[in-house]
Amino acid sequence: APVVSLNGVRKTYRSGSIEFEALRGVDMEIAAGEYVAVVGPSGSGKSTLMNILGCLDVPTEGSYHLGGEDVSTMSEASLAHVRNRRIGFVFQQFNLLPSLPAWRNVELPLVYAGAPRSQRRERAARALERVGLGDRLENRPGELSGGQQQRVAVARALVTEPDIILADEPTGNLDSASSEAVLALLDELHASGRTIVLITHEHEVAARAGRNLTIRDGLITADEPVLAGGGR
Ligand code: ADP
Ligand code: ADP
Repeated sequence: APVVSLNGVRKTYRSGSIEFEALRGVDMEIAAGEYVAVVGPSGSGKSTLMNILGCLDVPTEGSYHLGGEDVSTMSEASLAHVRNRRIGFVFQQFNLLPSLPAWRNVELPLVYAGAPRSQRRERAARALERVGLGDRLENRPGELSGGQQQRVAVARALVTEPDIILADEPTGNLDSASSEAVLALLDELHASGRTIVLITHEHEVAARAGRNLTIRDGLITADEPVLAGGGR
């Protein structure tokens, strides 16, 4: 069974009497171990789709199954639980807490998931080692470069061993060398079996994935494999 399955997903925003349909019937399936990029211009519905895939919002119509579970009709409390267990988030703005050392940032999803204190530091340290920052456990975000901060965010996304890693414009705030380091890290995670969904407006970034879904005006308009060696 696919990890992600969307069927006829629509999302309508309402403010007063004005309605806007940001997703107009999206179908997609993502299998375990796939690396998929969703690519589209500004305003095409990427953030809306990301919010639904990430269980931050629910469809107005249609269904979403994540890891076989129907999450489209869940309460906010159940959704929060699914988010913690099944999804690792990487955002453009890193979203690290500036007052906490790297390992404390990385352990946060474990705190929310109720993992025992005795395991958390060890698991956070292992995730930071995984992203090449085993020697930066005690550094606060402000003491790290942008690229290193985004790698801390990737470690935070990995630490719960989620079903999918959702990366929303993860290189949007990085110079080209740091972008390359983060994209190389995603390549490695994919090679080690992780399921990754990357959301971007940049075709060169999307070409790093194995498969590209093009979104335009709230619809998936293309679903294509990336030719070997794609963006590299
Ligand atoms: P993208 O991430 O590709 O830029 P979005 O999903 O943010 O696209 O937005 C898709 C469309 O939905 C845009 O036209 C946007 O203005 C509209 N939109 C997004 N969020 C809201 C909202 N909360 N209320 C009304 N319209 C929204
Ligand atoms: P981004 O696409 O950069 O992640 P957002 O998701 O915050 O940015 O917003 C995407 C688009 O949706 C923007 O064009 C924004 O104006 C529009 N939008 C977001 N929230 C609302 C809202 N509450 N009402 C109307 N438009 C909104």
